[in-house]
Amino acid sequence: MQQFMIPDYMYSTEFWLLTTPVLLSFFLLGMVLKPKGAREVIQSAKPSEVTSVLQSASDAALGFLEAENLSDSDIEACKALGRVFRERGEFDKAVALHKSVLQHPDLNEEQHRWALLALAKDFKGAGLTTHAEESLHQLVELKGDTPEKLEAYRLLTELYERQGKWAEALTVRNRLRNPNMKQKRTHALLMHKQGQELLKQNKEEEAQKLFEKALKLDSRCLAAAEDQVQLLIKQARYAEAQDVLREAQANRPDLFYILEPYMADAFKEDEQGMRVLWHAAALHPKAHWRSSVSFAQFLEEQGETEDALKILRRAYEQNPTTIETANALSQLLTRKEENKEALLVLHQHLNEKISFFPLWQCDQCGFSSNKLFWRCPQCSKWDSVRAYKHK
Ligand SMILES: [Zn+2]
Repeated sequence: MQQFMIPDYMYSTEFWLLTTPVLLSFFLLGMVLKPKGAREVIQSAKPSEVTSVLQSASDAALGFLEAENLSDSDIEACKALGRVFRERGEFDKAVALHKSVLQHPDLNEEQHRWALLALAKDFKGAGLTTHAEESLHQLVELKGDTPEKLEAYRLLTELYERQGKWAEALTVRNRLRNPNMKQKRTHALLMHKQGQELLKQNKEEEAQKLFEKALKLDSRCLAAAEDQVQLLIKQARYAEAQDVLREAQANRPDLFYILEPYMADAFKEDEQGMRVLWHAAALHPKAHWRSSVSFAQFLEEQGETEDALKILRRAYEQNPTTIETANALSQLLTRKEENKEALLVLHQHLNEKISFFPLWQCDQCGFSSNKLFWRCPQCSKWDSVRAYKHK
């Protein structure tokens, strides 16, 4: 039988003196190459150890940054280390690392873009907004639509929007090629914000042009429509104000009610026109309950109670579960002393509503259903289901 023998040289101090540094560097390199592993090591280490381990890894990284050629694994190591620094809030170290990377003559274009973006993120994390903007601008000026550049656009607009620099944010956003509808909507809202700034500076004409542009870009932009309508009314351009209102009702029936307070002024000389628009707004299938309730209120004030009742009845039929419509209808009926019908409406409304309520609910995770489960299908807890409590 062969016996396992420990070679003699392993007992020598010299052997260990030579191999220990090599093994240690492999361990450190492995740590920075695998961020997840590094994080685990760092999490399990004592605070004092973490700092020294990171310092060694940082020294190692700065060491190979001094070499003439950069390998992919060197870059990967820097990426991992930079991430760890940023996650630990050690932005000064992250900045130093990424600045050293950027100065390396052997950097290819992709690595250059990564290092610039990483540097910008370090500055942003440290709250050095101007520095972050500088790095991002450098990235944005580079050729081609690279993922780093798109990320730079996003971060740059985020920085500008956070500081209320709407014009700058808009300039960056305008450079995005082929914006999708969601981006166009944001563009329009930014234009509106910028327009409001101009209004504060009494630059009405310029502001109005921006509101117009915003509405052209996104006809659903009610924020711009609201300011535009007010300006047009102020300038006695009633026909144009009416057009904006009609467009808004057609494009945003769900939110049109926010423009209803301007209708009386815009249609000062055309009450019939206002009635047609308000009627359409009140009975649109997507209308907000306020539209029908406010139109009915207007009709009642004009002494046209029967017509008001008709509007509320139709709105209620369309959405019998909307509590505000049921409430308005039953109140109008009560005012007309038609108490029996008022009660019937409330009764029906409650019945409709109850049919949507589930019977059971898990008191652990909130899962609700009409079937009784002894073990919750969502959070897997036993005996956690209770009778559903209506709020
Ligand atoms: Zn549950």
